[in-house]
Amino acid sequence: MLGLMQNQPLLISSLIEFAARHHGDAEIVSRRVEGDIHRYTYRESARRSRQVAHALNALNLAFGDRVATLAWNGYRHFELYYGVSGSGRVLHTINPRLHPEQIAWIANHAEDQVLCFDLSFLPLVQAVHANCTTIKHYIALCDADKLPADSGIPNLQSYESWMGGQPGDYDWPTFDENTASSMCYTSGTTGHPKAALYSHRSSTLHAFAAALPDVMSISARDAILPVVPMFHVNAWGIPYSAALTGAKLVFPGPAMDGKSVYELIEAEKVTYAAGVPTVWQMLLTHMKPQGLRFSTLRRTVIGGSACPPAMIKAFNDDYGVEVLHAWGMTEMSPLGTLCTLKNKHDSLSDDEKMKIRLKQGRAIYGVDMKIVDSAGKELPWDGKTYGDLLVKGPWIIREYYKGTSDPLVDGWFPTGDVATIDADGYMQITDRSKDVIKSGGEWISSIDIENIAVAHPSVLMAACIGMVHPKWDERPIVAVVKKPGMDVSRDELLAFYEGKTAKWQIPDDVVFVDAIPLGATGKMLKTRLRELLKDYQLPEIQK
Ligand code: ADP
Repeated sequence: MLGLMQNQPLLISSLIEFAARHHGDAEIVSRRVEGDIHRYTYRESARRSRQVAHALNALNLAFGDRVATLAWNGYRHFELYYGVSGSGRVLHTINPRLHPEQIAWIANHAEDQVLCFDLSFLPLVQAVHANCTTIKHYIALCDADKLPADSGIPNLQSYESWMGGQPGDYDWPTFDENTASSMCYTSGTTGHPKAALYSHRSSTLHAFAAALPDVMSISARDAILPVVPMFHVNAWGIPYSAALTGAKLVFPGPAMDGKSVYELIEAEKVTYAAGVPTVWQMLLTHMKPQGLRFSTLRRTVIGGSACPPAMIKAFNDDYGVEVLHAWGMTEMSPLGTLCTLKNKHDSLSDDEKMKIRLKQGRAIYGVDMKIVDSAGKELPWDGKTYGDLLVKGPWIIREYYKGTSDPLVDGWFPTGDVATIDADGYMQITDRSKDVIKSGGEWISSIDIENIAVAHPSVLMAACIGMVHPKWDERPIVAVVKKPGMDVSRDELLAFYEGKTAKWQIPDDVVFVDAIPLGATGKMLKTRLRELLKDYQLPEIQK
């Protein structure tokens, strides 16, 4: 017997229509590429998203055609999120930090028909357009009078003249909720990037889940600042969850330096912010010397890389801001776990609570996870045994777009992360599997080694890698960037490890570097670091 409830497909267009109808006057504020602040409401945003849908129809784009963006977090990008997907096309957000050759490669691979770009990326588009063989239309996200003359880019028009004259009403089409809505390529540190192809159903379910109190807890009472980019994994789904809840949205545009982010948080009374650790490091480095405080910020979700305990403590103890540590990946839309405490943790001491908060968190309903050994056998949830982390669920990838092999193992997606899970279901990442350091038959967590280094007051950033060792297979060393104007010696830093970890886990050496290479999503590129240190020899071997 089938249920007798309405069978309404979960479509992305319903989110913006809901926001327009029930939170019509809630604000969307954007710092624009031009430098000024733009503000309008969900009602207006929905109208302009419908205009975008009409403008795409006018280009004769077919259902399912890909529309690419090279854009910062801002209101026009937000309108494309809804106008493109809502009308049945697929939004392909391109990460502008990828190498130009990779950008052309993925635009061709995705068979993008249109490319919409912020003017900051004009030189990039000028450099790649000749190699983008499928793109027929270029749209600069600007007013008509800002359109660059003689750009050399064919079929270029300004966004405002392209969509501005279109009608503001539109009947969003209804279709199968499994239809593709957007796509995002992984950074591809090895080989070509691979694309996750999200659907209306997966994105809508993810938006519901992300808003839950134990997940990102997004509500109409929040003013939320996603510093996490809309060009990578849909800014963790915040553009969707914000519309689903009617939260005020504050977009930082291209200005992600500490000063600009701080000023925006204060000016727009932001209560909630989301970003990767490197962005928050810039914010704290800006605030500390001037003794600045937050007047409204209460929570921040931090993920994308392990959040160092020193950062969680600084936000919590110095600024009264609760840090929610999150873990996920492109192939997971991206959210998998979030770290919030349970009722039974209320009576724990602050130190004991902190130990839990440092973990990547527990699974969100919709994500199942397990850890397995090298033979695929499931490992216990004891908080100590570590193994390869596998996941499954309705917003987790089944196959890559145009993929040639099955990425799943018995229906589970191998994340490439190594983790422990404790009896309460809290997962903790110890490493990427390719970064694991094996010393004398035991594993050393590079994340633990890095976290200790960045807890030192003179250390800005640290990356731990394994070096080949004749006796122990591998020994860890730590590459360190010092904070500007601060000093620490190799021996002082090695002494700092004592008592904080087992003796045999203390790195064999510290290498001071000017910078640690970062990938397109702000993660440390250990492959590149290893290349830079290819002539390095462990002190013991030098002797
Ligand atoms: P990429 O495109 O570089 O793969 P993703 O955003 O998909 O970018 O990266 C996902 C990976 O980032 C995860 O598999 C994990 O290794 C790492 N990661 C994400 N969040 C965390 C976290 N909170 N702690 C540790 N590692 C994390």
